Amino acid sequence: MDCIFCKIVNKEIPADFLFESDKLVAFADIKPKAPIHILIVTKEHIVSIKELQDASLTAEMVMAAKKLAEEKKMEGYKLAFNVGRAGGQEVDHLHLHLMGGFN
Ligand code: 5GP
Ligand code: ZN
Repeated sequence: MDCIFCKIVNKEIPADFLFESDKLVAFADIKPKAPIHILIVTKEHIVSIKELQDASLTAEMVMAAKKLAEEKKMEGYKLAFNVGRAGGQEVDHLHLHLMGGFN
């Protein structure tokens, strides 16, 4: 499967993991839209929120983002899931945007 985030998760493309758990990894966005822009990405290839049946994975993603924001001493931050092409999603592999460092 030609999925850029699967390749990063599987270390076929090098990336510095800022966080890792059994289900998730996090790394810096290649084209940051904030002073600090981190992507929290599922290890499993799940296309988007549309495929989920409950909130458990997204809850873990939000808590991972919170932990990273605290580590990076972010005063405040934005969290975003883009869902589907019409929702601005470009990479079809579930991820949460953590954007901060505005302070
Ligand atoms: P989306 O628009 O799908 O919600 O967000 C995808 C994000 O992935 C974009 O912000 C884009 O800059 C980032 N991105 C795309 N390709 C790569 C890559 O190869 N490495 C990293 N680190 N980020 C990427
Ligand atoms: Zn994938």
